[in-house]
Amino acid sequence: MLKKDFAVCIRAVDYSETSQVITFFTKDAGKFTAIAKGSKRSKSAFDGPIELFANGQIVFSQPHTDAMATLTEFSRQIDFSFPGRNLFALHCASLAAELLNSTTDDYDPHPRLFDAFLNLLAELDQSNNPLQLLIIFQLTLLKEIGLMPIFDHCSNCKTSVERRATSGKFFFSSEANGLVCGDCETSFPDKISVSKNVVEALYNYKNPASTNDKTLKEIEKVLISHFAYVTGRQPRMAKYVLD
Ligand SMILES: [Zn+2]
Repeated sequence: MLKKDFAVCIRAVDYSETSQVITFFTKDAGKFTAIAKGSKRSKSAFDGPIELFANGQIVFSQPHTDAMATLTEFSRQIDFSFPGRNLFALHCASLAAELLNSTTDDYDPHPRLFDAFLNLLAELDQSNNPLQLLIIFQLTLLKEIGLMPIFDHCSNCKTSVERRATSGKFFFSSEANGLVCGDCETSFPDKISVSKNVVEALYNYKNPASTNDKTLKEIEKVLISHFAYVTGRQPRMAKYVLD
């Protein structure tokens, strides 16, 4: 059965001299992998090879078994080119695609995540603060997959961040799934110390616009270690974003 959907390429691997295996994240069907036969031929049905972030309307056949889907049509839309001057934005987009791939299941639809990812690509193409956009996307991703860490109180004893903001230290623990206070930190060997600025920024994560670069880097370190815990391995693109 043929299906239509809106899709963005989050991974592209050569399959043969002429074909590719593409991982698409789609609006209605979620993530899946499809073979694009003949996509590397110059006169292919898909306007040439399909690259990372290529997006638009697709037609594909969804198999009944575990077999790979087959791409039959691809009408490309917006071209996110990430010109050379903005290599860091490209790295942020590539990390976002990698995390989208490693944290979602095949054929599990997340239409809001699809929109959030396309928005991220559009904004990264123009913004001068890619890291801030990446952080907002990563928090949206964690929320959508039901793994949003607790940022407003100690995840162990429930002491609120506001009550401890002036006096106490805070830590982040993936095992505790959020912040832990100075009284509870000894129970969580994986905890990392976080600055007051990070605690405040994460508490107000919907509005991190006023957060400075140093704090954004620190937040990104916390999030990458959390994604590594959730997926069981360090994201491949992490070193390009943290450097
Ligand atoms: Zn506590």
